[in-house]
Amino acid sequence: MTTTGSAHRWLLLLLVGATAARGAIAGPPPQGDSLFHEVRAAMGTTFDLFLYAPDAVQAEALAEAAFEEIERIEATFSTYRASSELSRINRLAGHEPVTTDPEVFGLLERARVYSAATGGAFDITVGALMKTWGFFRDEGRYPPPDTLARARTRTGWRHLLMDARGRTVAFAVAGLELDVGGIGKGYALDRVAALLRAHGVHAALIGSGTSSFVALGAPPGEPGWAVRVPLPFDREQTLSTVYLRDGALSTSGNYERFFDLDGRRYSHIIDPRTGVPADHVVQVTVVAPTGEASDALSTAVFVLGPGEGAALLADRPGTGALLVSGTPGTVHVQRLGGFEDAGDDASFIYSPERDGP
Ligand code: AMP
Ligand code: MG
Repeated sequence: MTTTGSAHRWLLLLLVGATAARGAIAGPPPQGDSLFHEVRAAMGTTFDLFLYAPDAVQAEALAEAAFEEIERIEATFSTYRASSELSRINRLAGHEPVTTDPEVFGLLERARVYSAATGGAFDITVGALMKTWGFFRDEGRYPPPDTLARARTRTGWRHLLMDARGRTVAFAVAGLELDVGGIGKGYALDRVAALLRAHGVHAALIGSGTSSFVALGAPPGEPGWAVRVPLPFDREQTLSTVYLRDGALSTSGNYERFFDLDGRRYSHIIDPRTGVPADHVVQVTVVAPTGEASDALSTAVFVLGPGEGAALLADRPGTGALLVSGTPGTVHVQRLGGFEDAGDDASFIYSPERDGP
């Protein structure tokens, strides 16, 4: 773990006090705490942890606990691991109801609620489609029509049957495949934030690559943790800086996994209602009170596009979004709800109302 003082990599702008004039911040880190930063690989990306702690020994212990928690969640939910609980469910639930543990049942149940609430734009059963399009193993290809038709019959959150009494999960059609790729990182960040909070940490930022961030408090004297949202067409450039305090931000983009064919880009976010990768927008960033919410909603809004996506978020207080569509020559940015201005067109503050202290 290293103390962070110098400028950090592309994904984060460490704070420079330009917006420090804003009002008092609840629960600032105690005087004398220092900022520590650690990066580790997990879930097919890198996780960054920034936190304020009294000394390196405590920071190291907190980081160890945080990364252990991420590893535990990956071991439970990864469909890239045959030994995971989610892989076990995918293997068995087409044959018989599978009893699972409260954590797995809880996340799947909430994912099913997102699936229903988004009209199936977010769909936790997207696994078969992901494999058919070759995105599971980075072998993107346009599938033959009969293969695609078969995958579509093996997709659909309505086929996911959950019974809270016995905590069982069953599939109404054989071959259904759960895939937490659209919500799992946000969930993991929430768990780490809860763990750090329970250990008395007042200010931390946890991020998974450039895709999701969860903030605990804010750095001293700052309105929030500065999170850089890239311009999708040139990701070294900044579209926006969002100062995040006690909230979450997730970005879904068509550049994470994709293939290009006949002048069209096919990316890893699939519209489960058509079976074809969504292409209304190029990038969507959603802010929400939790990482789970921002992650699921960024995927959903990416599928829904500007009109339906705006309607989805309008029903959800405490959310906001930045949608990017168009081409490098004609970039179109749409901003929805949720943000406070931070002094210029490209900087915002996001801090959701929270229950309790
Ligand atoms: P994200 O980057 O959070 O938008 O998540 C994209 C990942 O979510 C993909 O790589 C898939 O694992 C999964 N996914 C793709 N399409 C959907 C969808 N329509 N609903 C839910 N998850 C999806
Ligand atoms: Mg997501």
